[in-house]
Amino acid sequence: MNVYDSARMVDILSPLGYTLTDQPKNADMAILNTCHIREKASEKTFSELGRLRNMRKAKQEANKGDMMIAVAGCVAQAEGAEIMKRASFVNMVFGPQSYHKLPEMLAEAARGQGQILETDFPVEPKFDHLPDEAIDKNLSAFLTVQEGCDKFCAFCVVPYTRGAEFSRSISDIVVEAKRMLAAGTKEITLLGQNVNAYHGVGMDGQSASLARLIYELADLDGLKRLRYTTSHPLEMTEELCKAHRDVDILMPYLHLPVQAGSDKILDAMNRRHTSAEYLQIIEKLRSYRPDLALSGDFIVGFPGETESDFEDTLSLVREVEYAQAYSFKYSPRPGTPAAALDGQMIPENIKSERLARLQTLLNEQQLNFNKSFEGKEISVLLEREGKKEGQLIGRSPYMQSVYLQSQPHRIGRIAKVVIEEGNANSLRGKLKPGTVADAA
Ligand code: SAM
Ligand code: SF4
Repeated sequence: MNVYDSARMVDILSPLGYTLTDQPKNADMAILNTCHIREKASEKTFSELGRLRNMRKAKQEANKGDMMIAVAGCVAQAEGAEIMKRASFVNMVFGPQSYHKLPEMLAEAARGQGQILETDFPVEPKFDHLPDEAIDKNLSAFLTVQEGCDKFCAFCVVPYTRGAEFSRSISDIVVEAKRMLAAGTKEITLLGQNVNAYHGVGMDGQSASLARLIYELADLDGLKRLRYTTSHPLEMTEELCKAHRDVDILMPYLHLPVQAGSDKILDAMNRRHTSAEYLQIIEKLRSYRPDLALSGDFIVGFPGETESDFEDTLSLVREVEYAQAYSFKYSPRPGTPAAALDGQMIPENIKSERLARLQTLLNEQQLNFNKSFEGKEISVLLEREGKKEGQLIGRSPYMQSVYLQSQPHRIGRIAKVVIEEGNANSLRGKLKPGTVADAA
């Protein structure tokens, strides 16, 4: 979602004459779009700010003008005042719901009105103020349809930094999707912290589900692939599960985090479902779409997690067989209920050891999944040139990166590719002999 937000900031700033640069040392403005989800991500903000301060100094000393420094995103939202204090050289700090006010903030900064802090949750959603011309020119693009979260998992800062759940209307989303398609996008990933809790106003004025939105988008000309992320198990409705069977362009890959396999820990995390209920959802999904590849998020070392709780996580993983997954050591976040469970914190060395064991298993499953494609034919959206001469990189329906030898003019097409080798993080293949990539 930060990638999507950054792209929207570029859209907002371009009428003011700003363009993106890959040379930060010469930039007139640097925006650090930050993440607060784990302590490590949040700590990075301060070290990156130090780097930016040095760049600004070097620029000023070389008489190349000033550099405006801004901090955006969830660290800005949660620690705005602290940033202003610790890094007094920062010009602006604004949260994820305020970036549409960038032109006003810039004008204020130009008037030399000191540091600017914008971390209110506005009454009107920012989406109403984003420029219409906004387009993501990528073949595969993100589109935010839902934001914020009302689930309040005990470990998570999202409800406090991104705010309450909000869904955009289907008509707004369709307009943005059409603009993306007109600019050449072939694949859209619908984004939301809790995307399957989507409940925007539908075309008939009534509240509509994510499944409804998917059906609306599936009819758009030029849209070849559709995905959505991230989902919560509690919101995997029958209608949404069935959409995986009935909507051709809905890709057979689902990121459905479970976090832990022990019911005691799931309860302490306030996830509001058991491991058996999660497994039932997977079974149902696979009955509708047998080739569905699953991905998940896991937290090890949540306060109070015993060895036996952790083993429940391992057995759940063995049962599901993930195609891919993200796993993290529990990181206490200030202000969340779990951070107050002082007496039950798990020592760092145990967390590291559990994480290593979990990752060994997950990596093994990912490799097995990738190997299972050897000799098979899959469709690949050819997205860009690779580092090697004559190499293209694309994406499979199951989210794997696929490398093959082909011509750059084929970028943007969906090609039939025969997989020769499945590796840990990618597939290697070749264009199916005798077939020309579909002129999608
Ligand atoms: N909404 C999604 C869900 O309910 O699964 C997750 C969104 S969160 C931005 C992404 C992932 O970060 C979570 O699934 C969780 O695994 C991880 N995460 C969140 N808070 C964490 C914490 N305090 N410590 C470690 N990992 C955390
Ligand atoms: Fe965080 Fe996801 Fe839980 Fe919401 S549902 S509180 S975003 S982990």
